Amino acid sequence: MTDTVAFIGLGVMGGPMARNLSKAGFDVRAFDTRAAAIKRAVHFGAKAAVSAQDSVIGADFVITMLPNSEHVLDVMIGKDNISQFMEPNTLYIDMSTIAPKTTDRLFRKVEAEGQSMIDAPVGRLSSNAEDGTLLIMAGGERTDIERAMPLFETMGSDIVHCGAVGTGIRMKIVNNYMSITLNALTAETLQFATISGLDRNLVCQVLLGTTAGKGHLATTYPTKILRNDLTPGFSIDLANKDLSIALDFASDLKVPVKSGKASKEYYEAALTQSLGQQDWTSIYQMLLDSNKHMFEDG
Ligand code: NAD
Repeated sequence: MTDTVAFIGLGVMGGPMARNLSKAGFDVRAFDTRAAAIKRAVHFGAKAAVSAQDSVIGADFVITMLPNSEHVLDVMIGKDNISQFMEPNTLYIDMSTIAPKTTDRLFRKVEAEGQSMIDAPVGRLSSNAEDGTLLIMAGGERTDIERAMPLFETMGSDIVHCGAVGTGIRMKIVNNYMSITLNALTAETLQFATISGLDRNLVCQVLLGTTAGKGHLATTYPTKILRNDLTPGFSIDLANKDLSIALDFASDLKVPVKSGKASKEYYEAALTQSLGQQDWTSIYQMLLDSNKHMFEDG
């Protein structure tokens, strides 16, 4: 029998994801607060639901793809309260990017109702949602992940099982923290380079050939700190010296370099702890050590 999928939230991402499920033969019941979005989903083979509650009655799977925590809470346990209308064997899958504490709250509610849940936020762009080539970071019981796999493989090309419920959203948030922060650092660096009179294209070419552009996860971390090798390939002393030169130069040019100034605090803390002769990647170990009490306290 064809699986029924309630799909709530048919925006830039959810619209094409629901369309791909319809195209693959799933019985999609589409709901969005925008009538035009439902109409488009129906055009691609979905059935229109008149409300969020209507979409989930008798559904095998319920997917939410909504903007933020408050929208998902509203739909699941607030105004629409769809968890009350889901069957015990319904598998609830939230694919939105929301706060991990909201995911945890949703899971407590779903568990209390005797249902199952996967958190499965997505990586990549709307064009990947169109092509069915999203990266899906899924948290949940292995049997639930296996059950959802035909849906995931329709919407995505890379499915990563991150662990228990809640690990998918944590993976997504950590990933976005790094890429969003690196975007600001990249912008800051390129403006620094431009104001210092360098050719931007040449800067990109040079930086793509060094750790700056290749990224620490692809270069220094696997060979040093992730192997517990703290011997200096490039020492904290030297990194701190070079960062000081860069910050002084930026100051001469009156270039704002907030990310660099924030990073300097970490290097100075390392020097205070006499770590100057360790590899620069051991900043990671220093941060872990300074938070040890959190792990010890559970
Ligand atoms: P969007 O704003 O385009 O779509 C959200 C949809 O939800 C809209 O159609 C809106 O009408 C609908 N909606 C809002 N409240 C509703 C409710 N109470 N009931 C039913 N429908 C409701 O957002 P999007 O770009 O599709 O993103 C969805 C999620 O995916 C977000 O959490 C976003 O952060 C994440 N994400 C987006 C991208 C991207 O490139 N756009 C990439 C990865 C992840």
